[in-house]
Amino acid sequence: MSDLEAPWTDEQVTQLNRFQHGGYFHPFTCGIRDTHPDNEGILIATPEGWHCPVQTCPYRQAWCHDFMADKAWNDGMETYWAGLFADISVNPDGTLFGRPESD
Ligand SMILES: [Zn+2]
Repeated sequence: MSDLEAPWTDEQVTQLNRFQHGGYFHPFTCGIRDTHPDNEGILIATPEGWHCPVQTCPYRQAWCHDFMADKAWNDGMETYWAGLFADISVNPDGTLFGRPESD
């Protein structure tokens, strides 16, 4: 595993933002989020690097792990997680991870 420095391509930006919201791993977050405790600061990828979602926050970061920007890696994680949860349903009352009634 190595790191990728910005600038990133549009495709890399797409994959990075997919990673951030995929839920497979903890996303990159703002390094000074204690300055805005009402927003967890899940970073947004742009071609120039990461930006904090808080408009007034100056935090920037210009590197990522290479796998985060890799479409095949993201595709693989999506498939893996879909397989793990394939036999789990959401209960009618909305609670998660309930298994269907079995006969
Ligand atoms: Zn921030």
